[in-house]
Amino acid sequence: METQSQVVDRLRSAFHSGITIPEQFRRTQLTKLMSMIKDNEEQILNALHKDLAKPKFEAILSEVDIVINDLHYAIANFRSWMQPEYVSKNLATKLDDCFIRREPLGVVLIIGAWNYPLQLLILPMVGAIAAGNCVVIKPSEVSAATDSLIAELIPKYLSQDCYAVVRGGAEETKALLQNRFDHIFYTGSQTVARSILQAASVHLTPVTLELGGKCPCFIYGRVNIAAAAHRLVWAKFFNAGQSCVAPDYVLCSPATKDVLVPALREALEDFYGKEPETCPDLSRIVSPRHWMRLMELLKRSSGKIVVGGESNQEDKYIAPTVVVDVFEDDALMKEEIFGPILPIITVDSLEKGIDFINRQEKPLALYVFSDESSVINTVLERTSSGGFCSNDGIVHMTLPGLPFGGVGASGWGSYHGRWSFEAFSHRRACMMRGWALERINSLRYPPYRDDKLSW
Ligand code: NAD
Repeated sequence: METQSQVVDRLRSAFHSGITIPEQFRRTQLTKLMSMIKDNEEQILNALHKDLAKPKFEAILSEVDIVINDLHYAIANFRSWMQPEYVSKNLATKLDDCFIRREPLGVVLIIGAWNYPLQLLILPMVGAIAAGNCVVIKPSEVSAATDSLIAELIPKYLSQDCYAVVRGGAEETKALLQNRFDHIFYTGSQTVARSILQAASVHLTPVTLELGGKCPCFIYGRVNIAAAAHRLVWAKFFNAGQSCVAPDYVLCSPATKDVLVPALREALEDFYGKEPETCPDLSRIVSPRHWMRLMELLKRSSGKIVVGGESNQEDKYIAPTVVVDVFEDDALMKEEIFGPILPIITVDSLEKGIDFINRQEKPLALYVFSDESSVINTVLERTSSGGFCSNDGIVHMTLPGLPFGGVGASGWGSYHGRWSFEAFSHRRACMMRGWALERINSLRYPPYRDDKLSW
């Protein structure tokens, strides 16, 4: 069996051979990637169900279709993204060709997380292939069924000279990171991101970090509370709250809380029935370890559970749960929840809500629910976050025209659509000169004279 460094060396030789440069090669690989997803949709859905009990509907929406749509978009557009971008010129460069050339970075590493185990590997891979790179992907070992399926399928469909899957957990990933890559694209927690950065610093490898954090949902002013509750419940409990852009907590006034809680209860019953545990539309927690962490958080919280709270360890089930009387120093506010628990924190004014948000790390997404555009615009202007969406949750990340990524502690860089292509491209600044205009050029040569400056 090949060692990790032999895999990287093999891909590097392929990259240096220039095989990934022609547009046609990239197009063929992207088309094969599309076939891989389409031909094996059933197996993919089964693996996702095994890992997370992902409902088929959610899996199609957030793993299969999002990838297929991005592939269609890339296949239709990457030719134009590859074209040189001509820039404006001045008198001294009038006769030159001045343009930006998008070039592949080389051999890139994509490390995925378990919560959307297909999407989080394949979406960046689309950009990396379109940009002409060789790619090593490292699926998350936590979502074991999808990990093994991806490892089986990629070599069957894509060029084995240029694309490889390396499997393993923390130790194998640390060993893999000792190799020199031309870019590292990491999705996962902030804690592990620090080790990724340390490893990247050895070779001065540039990185994209797709991280998480606590995404607030600020509900303020007049608001259609029934619609707000339905949209919030959908965004929060999709994939059992295991989404990096899930609303992590709600901020609202005490009066809004009083009407929101019954509306949330109603929305939950509409979606998952009176016994959510028997509902097939609710995912499970990915592993016993992750289940334990969430139950521990609930136990340590001094808030009051007003909806849900039931659990079943054997089935890794936690009911959609709403907690009130939560304060800033509560256990639920100390880390990203990443599960089906929604704390509600009350604030007295718009100003205090904005101050609360600004006291935390910059989130990956910020949601504001209000009928009043002045409220939405004030929060937009006075805060910072990777993405922003008013009166809904998660959906902003489905549009390939919008860059997806964090800011500050929620991540560095972005991707999706053209942004993925850009993430894996070097913008080479090119000035193609001839020998003309030598008299103008001579103005910059010594001997220097002040009158040459004013020319
Ligand atoms: P995870 O446990 O699957 O880890 C992510 C990857 O890091 C895996 O491939 C894993 O093998 C590897 N890894 C684990 N420990 C490592 C180590 N010590 N050194 C090197 N590699 C290591 O996933 P996770 O970290 O639990 O992911 C959850 C986090 O990811 C949440 O914070 C979530 O918000 C974030 N996330 C962000 C996005 C995004 O697009 N911004 C998407 C999904 C998840």
